[in-house]
Amino acid sequence: MPTSVRRTKIVATLGPAWAEPAQMVALLDAGVNVVRINASHATSEIRARWIGEIQSITKARAESVATLVDLQGPRIRVGTLAEPLSLETGQRVVFAPESEAQAGEIPTTYDALAADVRVGARILLNDGLLSLEVTGVRDRRVQAVVHYGGELKSHKGMNLPGLEVSAPALTEKDLEDVDQAVALGADYVALSFVRRPEDMEQLRGLVPRGTKLIAKIEKDTALRNLCGILDASDAIMVARGDLGVELPFEEVPLMQKQIIREAGLHGKPVITATQMLESMIHAPRPTRAEASDVANAILDGTDAVMLSAETAVGRYPFEAVRAMDRIARAMEMQRPGRGVTIDAALGRRASEGELLPNHRAGQSGPVRTEDAIAVAVCAAAEMLSAPVILCFTSSGFTARKVSSCRPAVPVFACTPEPDTFRQLSLVWGVTSALIEHSTDYDAMLAVARRHILERGLARPGERLVVTAGVPFDMPGTTNLLKIEAV
Ligand code: PGA
Ligand code: MN
Repeated sequence: MPTSVRRTKIVATLGPAWAEPAQMVALLDAGVNVVRINASHATSEIRARWIGEIQSITKARAESVATLVDLQGPRIRVGTLAEPLSLETGQRVVFAPESEAQAGEIPTTYDALAADVRVGARILLNDGLLSLEVTGVRDRRVQAVVHYGGELKSHKGMNLPGLEVSAPALTEKDLEDVDQAVALGADYVALSFVRRPEDMEQLRGLVPRGTKLIAKIEKDTALRNLCGILDASDAIMVARGDLGVELPFEEVPLMQKQIIREAGLHGKPVITATQMLESMIHAPRPTRAEASDVANAILDGTDAVMLSAETAVGRYPFEAVRAMDRIARAMEMQRPGRGVTIDAALGRRASEGELLPNHRAGQSGPVRTEDAIAVAVCAAAEMLSAPVILCFTSSGFTARKVSSCRPAVPVFACTPEPDTFRQLSLVWGVTSALIEHSTDYDAMLAVARRHILERGLARPGERLVVTAGVPFDMPGTTNLLKIEAV
């Protein structure tokens, strides 16, 4: 089996730490599969330049790379402070809407704060490091006492755990950022603080058909609506940064496992994000706990692992990508794919021990053709010791289906669609190639064979398991399984 293909994908956030073309090439060479642009940071001009630069570099490369624009969503923040505040434990403070805040008050970007909170509610600032409790509400002002103090700077995030925030799913800024992402041809658009499937449907209405949407799961409301959100999204993210502030942090590990499993049952790719190699912002090596965290997310079945500040502003962006690559390969050497049982492929599972409500326990509707084919493809590859699964796909549907069964060998996806070619770079175990459009199976097989031999994915004489949807131009029709010689 070729060991040269890493199955787990790496998402790296772009930032000043690798904004120069030579640095971009170095990080892509180190193994970045998806480049994330965080719309919360930098100006739209800078982000446009970065995306353009990445796109022109990746165009010349054989390996596909996707771009992901991550929208800020209805994040609540502290407004602009004249100077940083030092909050002492026991201190009493007042929050006021940014437009009305007076000297000595803490401005917030969330105008409806006073209307939405109750006495006793917790307010967490700066990633949960500062913790306060609401003691009173007066008109549009909220009084609070500091439980855990510290320094507070302008624009730090505010989390209100357990609170049903009334803010709209997409802010004015998000609408502008979506337009820009679409104009620049971003492959994925992610939305922060998704609460309901309708949030994704609203975003869907703003992008062309080819743009794939990612729901960031970082609120307890989203966990309650997870199945619906998965149905309304093309992929999801376990956004542990905010999830671990909105929810007690001790609940994050099991939530991560369940979100990943649920995504797998829906056949949707999932990214595990935030603080994976946090210490590498300042150090050239990860802590052992971080190495274990990346490894465990892979064991949980994540499609991709993500780097945020580590690559965006860290001192060792290159080393961070390399570290993830090494950890993923070491895991995959021992466990190339977990394989899938027929039960799991059909979305059946036990109903005991579930933390997530609203799941489809015990569901067993009619078996879909694509699920039967995907399971059979993986089983055939294993029985025949085939070195690779070849997949012809136009929308990427067939490749995602096969990937979600976590086959033991790489999936080589040939597609005539440039969007699909790039988007598949997020999907576990899939390597994609852009081939010329054809409706003739034999002609496409000949082209794919050449690619497979050139890339060393198989040797002449070995057997290939081929899958596709026929006719080729109809997305979502996985119905073919064939065994061919290389
Ligand atoms: P963010 O999202 O970095 O945009 O906040 C990820 C997370 O919350 O984990
Ligand atoms: Mn977040």
